Amino acid sequence: MLIRLDKYLADMQVGTRSEVKELIRKKRVTVNDNIVTKPESKINTDGDSVNVDGNAVGYHEYEYFMLNKPAGVVSATDDNTCTTVIDLIKNKNRKDLFPVGRLDKDTEGLLIITNDGAMAHDLLSPKKHVDKTYYAKVKGKISDMEVKQFADGLFVDEELTALPAILKVLSYNSDKDYSEIHVTIHEGKFHQVKRMFTAIGSEVLFLKRITFGALPLDESLKTGEYRALTKEEISILQ
Ligand code: URA
Repeated sequence: MLIRLDKYLADMQVGTRSEVKELIRKKRVTVNDNIVTKPESKINTDGDSVNVDGNAVGYHEYEYFMLNKPAGVVSATDDNTCTTVIDLIKNKNRKDLFPVGRLDKDTEGLLIITNDGAMAHDLLSPKKHVDKTYYAKVKGKISDMEVKQFADGLFVDEELTALPAILKVLSYNSDKDYSEIHVTIHEGKFHQVKRMFTAIGSEVLFLKRITFGALPLDESLKTGEYRALTKEEISILQ
């Protein structure tokens, strides 16, 4: 890809557009070992080597992270009062990152953070029915009839009859009267999992997303931790 030198440097957060223009004018920027003084010079992001004060600045058109979202942070790019999922990503090169979809503030688990708008659009498209699996603790004992209701396509309310969903009961704690479950849904409506359990007279006590499409949450990531996606993981999502 060919882009202007000042955009290249600003994209990689070397400074604002005017700051990087100043660096370029002060002859602090080289391209393939030659000082370049024109901010509008075209750079080949795949081949040219750009340095500022002798330090290499590589170009990343897209970045992809897997975050194990903790409860208490919002799935947004900025917020006046709360920490956002983007605030948690400390070693980003790009400033245009956003979360692919949303998890509720109190939901934990797998969230993809990227600046690849086309990929996000595809993954979130209602037509694509990208599966998402959640682990949850829910109130009460879940019966076989309720598992079947989920499988048949649960009527939630006037706005939502869910597509068939796979509900697996993992255990029931009779002392505390809650069930542990896995549920796989094929769409991503607002508060969908919580609304589905409310519709059967239960309640979600804890919710964590463990897969997104074919991508599982890396269980070695503690809540709040993240890492870059590998090339293989990116291609799984594309
Ligand atoms: N369903 C919900 O109810 N909440 C989430 O955060 C994700 C799915």
